[in-house]
Amino acid sequence: MKAYDDLMRFQRQTEALGQVAGRLGWDQETMMPRGAAEQRGEETAAMEAVLHARRTDPRIGDWLARIDAADLDEVQRAQIRHIRRAFERTSKVPAKLAEEIARVTSVAQGIWAQARADEDVAAFLPTLSRVVDLRRQEAAALAGEDGDLYDALLDDYEPGATGASLEAMFSELRPALVSLRERLLGAEYQPGKLDAEFSEIGQLRLSADLARRFGYDFNTGRIDKAVHPFSSGSGRDVRITTRTSPRDPFNCFYSTIHEVGHACYEQSIDPEFGLTPLGRGVSMGVHESQSRIYENQLGRSRAFCGFLYRRMAEEFGDFGVRDAEAFYGAVNRVNSGYIRTEADEVHYNLHVLLRFDLERDLIAGRLETADLEEAWNTRFHKDFGVAVDKPSNGCLQDVHWSVGLFGYFPTYSLGNVYAGCLHEAMHEAVPGVEAELARGETTLATNWLAENVQRGGGLHEPRETIRRATVSEPGVAPLLRYLEAKFTDLYRL
Ligand code: ZN
Repeated sequence: MKAYDDLMRFQRQTEALGQVAGRLGWDQETMMPRGAAEQRGEETAAMEAVLHARRTDPRIGDWLARIDAADLDEVQRAQIRHIRRAFERTSKVPAKLAEEIARVTSVAQGIWAQARADEDVAAFLPTLSRVVDLRRQEAAALAGEDGDLYDALLDDYEPGATGASLEAMFSELRPALVSLRERLLGAEYQPGKLDAEFSEIGQLRLSADLARRFGYDFNTGRIDKAVHPFSSGSGRDVRITTRTSPRDPFNCFYSTIHEVGHACYEQSIDPEFGLTPLGRGVSMGVHESQSRIYENQLGRSRAFCGFLYRRMAEEFGDFGVRDAEAFYGAVNRVNSGYIRTEADEVHYNLHVLLRFDLERDLIAGRLETADLEEAWNTRFHKDFGVAVDKPSNGCLQDVHWSVGLFGYFPTYSLGNVYAGCLHEAMHEAVPGVEAELARGETTLATNWLAENVQRGGGLHEPRETIRRATVSEPGVAPLLRYLEAKFTDLYRL
């Protein structure tokens, strides 16, 4: 077992360095003085070079070749599965191509941000074409002779998923969501919005309270402010960020709960797996299932909204919402906005499905970047019933494609689908979740998730992780049942 031990020792250091690199990224978004940006660029690049050299170190190949799977137990086999997959992927991509991708995507984000500020799609297209072309080359290197290009990219974020399997899932989701949104927007009863100002200090105090109520461990975590909320780190150091907006405290509260879902997943993984490949969330889709079930099925439930209503009145006094039911409506109001990150539960997946179809066509070569804006706007009108008014509300709104993230978007919807499955299974397994939520507590729900999903980290494949927790085959039906029941009730249909 010497080869296994040597490999794991080497891997552990790589994992530790990866955490350090992640913390540099966290610092950049929260604490770093503005004048440090250039130097930080160099520091980050140096860390990336060290990590890249370690991840492609030929000794990994030697160790892997000397390990006999028959000598390993289940945990060790899972460790090797992760290490082998990562090593084979990095070895397949020529170093020159990897460097070129890193170089182009590092400037592409700035070009995208400028184009978005100027509402100028044409200014971004040459860069986007270059990024698409490079990622296609990378996909070809990964996929081999007759592999699918998009599947090769998807595999980075959601091992085991394929474009075709997701398409089958999403083709069931889309018409049901379009029909539901039409019925809700045509309903006689329409919930109102918040119309008041909320102090920043109050929002931050309440969001820290919410984080605690959802089980976030401040002994191994902390909350800071950032422009875009995110969570960062694994194991014994998992940090989150949030933001405030004077007239929209829900943005602060629900971003916090969302990131707490991601962070609690990382904090709840078996400590034995710390600084190993099993010590991280198993995939983007499973990660998003945790953040979304915390945020939506738990945080936006009628029961928890009743508690939050009282808690907000305590913090801010009378804020002009007459009762808990009106408050529940304000939290869950459905409207066909342009922006994915601001979307309600009914529209959110329609935003994602649009991106999934378009990026699959881009990678397959069925769609030219020159035709992207028109394809986006046509599809948006079809699903949302509104014409896109400007590119920053349309195809320039997300950062993902500029930095080469193709295959990432569908994991958001997959996460929602998994959250639907888990929510249904949890309700059958643990009675009393709603009664507890009404008191502002989440222990029954979050303990069930920690035990059945989070604790195992990367031990099982993503889909298998959900299958084991729910004891059934994952599909869209539970999510659709949940949305249909919740929203037809809220809209009194
Ligand atoms: Zn998330």
